[in-house]
Amino acid sequence: MAKTDNNADWNLAPAPESTDHIHIDKRYELFIDGKFTAPSGKKYFKTVNPATEEVLAEIAEANGRDVDKAVKAARKAYNGVWSKISAKERAKYIFRIARLIQERAREFAVIESLDGGKPIRESRDVDVPTAAAHFFYHAGWADKLEYAFPVRKVSPLGVVGQIIPWNFPLLMAAWKIAPALATGNTVVLKPAETTSLTALKLAELIRDAGLPDGVVNIVTGAGATGRALTEHPDVDKIAFTGSTDVGKMIQRTVAGTDKKLTLELGGKAANIIFEDAPIDQAVEGIINGIFFNQGHVCCAGSRLFVQESVAAEVDRRLKHRMESLILGDPLDKNTDVGAINSKGQLETINSYLAKGKKEGLTMFQTDCPVPEKGFWCRPTLFSDVAQSSVIAREEIFGPVLAIQTFRTVDEVIDKANNTPYGLSAGVWTDKGSKIFNLTTRLKAGVVWANTYNKFDPTSPFGGYKESGFGREGGLHGLRAYVNLH
Ligand code: NAP
Ligand code: MG
Repeated sequence: MAKTDNNADWNLAPAPESTDHIHIDKRYELFIDGKFTAPSGKKYFKTVNPATEEVLAEIAEANGRDVDKAVKAARKAYNGVWSKISAKERAKYIFRIARLIQERAREFAVIESLDGGKPIRESRDVDVPTAAAHFFYHAGWADKLEYAFPVRKVSPLGVVGQIIPWNFPLLMAAWKIAPALATGNTVVLKPAETTSLTALKLAELIRDAGLPDGVVNIVTGAGATGRALTEHPDVDKIAFTGSTDVGKMIQRTVAGTDKKLTLELGGKAANIIFEDAPIDQAVEGIINGIFFNQGHVCCAGSRLFVQESVAAEVDRRLKHRMESLILGDPLDKNTDVGAINSKGQLETINSYLAKGKKEGLTMFQTDCPVPEKGFWCRPTLFSDVAQSSVIAREEIFGPVLAIQTFRTVDEVIDKANNTPYGLSAGVWTDKGSKIFNLTTRLKAGVVWANTYNKFDPTSPFGGYKESGFGREGGLHGLRAYVNLH
């Protein structure tokens, strides 16, 4: 199809994914000790579809007593079953979970898009298959831990408390649960308030897989539920993914206890285009890096650094490509940019847009139509951004790109590292030597070269500085769930 400058000419016929095969209950209870259990405070909160603002279901809110019940169930399961059965048996359960996710992939993908607002193409092609891949990968490790840590005796930690955010709800649950189970721990997981549904569907699947009662418990609720989990004295480790502010609070809570802690926090990734880069490929990577999942990605390439000699060309091609992005119904297979996850998050993004304008930055937004209901933000970029600008410094967690230019390699490395974060970065160049130079000197846990946002369970993921500590995935990820003697 010929490219045009006008979004209206991209009238693709609607291609909505069907929802006939989806069943969402009116109400969801807590998953404790293998059973769905009403919350002791009898409180429920609503989860909405951010693309329509319709209520999808009511979700139980766990209080401190419920969290305590879940931790006790996890402890009982740890002492009674999970630490006793052979590693080979553990592996079988984890394989079974992986296979069941694959069998029910369409259902999970649709519910993820309904509850969280992300395009079905992403939940179908990224979130769900990668979640299954994490269970497959870790199932493989379960009975080979002595090869992962040669000459050491490996033992599990016990009960782990896991808290996850709303941007990759099922995938984050898989990142957390799979390595914990493979290493012989039992789990209490708290999903994010706005996106509990796929975690609860995963609870059903885990029950169907026949996992012994109490090995995985899922307690839904808001921040207070998470806090109760971090404060619980019988939890041996907290694994947290979320904002740097909450991460710091958790660090204070566990200080002085013997709880282990891993934190996967925010980011403000630099994506760097050198003049020798294949520009079209780079532009496509930049688009993927920031508009993928509406920029609700901790490793989103939210700062773009372009070498001065190609800045005008990149700017032109980027805007041209942005105009062709399709925003709208997350269930439509043509959609590139879905709904913002919640009203609160949309307000946060809008407040940053206002700050950027107030700073006098040049803002460009596409003119794509926006649905009347729901929470939406058009793909946006700010040009001529200074290092000191709030748009370049703070994590926005939305489809907002800040562009800066540079002349030399040293200059761009200084600028890219000038951030409290250090989760990820991207480099676009034709020269292998430049890639090696930058991957060594950029202070980021992951550096992609001539690609972006690629995830694999075999690769460790995690940050430097205020992006947290500890790694998830690969051998390094296993280390965070074991004691070595
Ligand atoms: P958030 O507010 O920190 O929430 C994360 C989780 O913590 C949610 O389940 C939240 O519950 C819970 N929580 C809130 N207050 C808590 C407290 N005092 N004690 C314990 N738990 C508490 O983060 P978010 O805004 O949902 O997620 C976006 C952030 O996550 C971004 O900063 C992003 O960069 C980061 N993130 C990082 C990674 C990574 O791997 N580094 C991956 C994804 C996201 P409620 O949601 O119910 O309030
Ligand atoms: Mg929702």
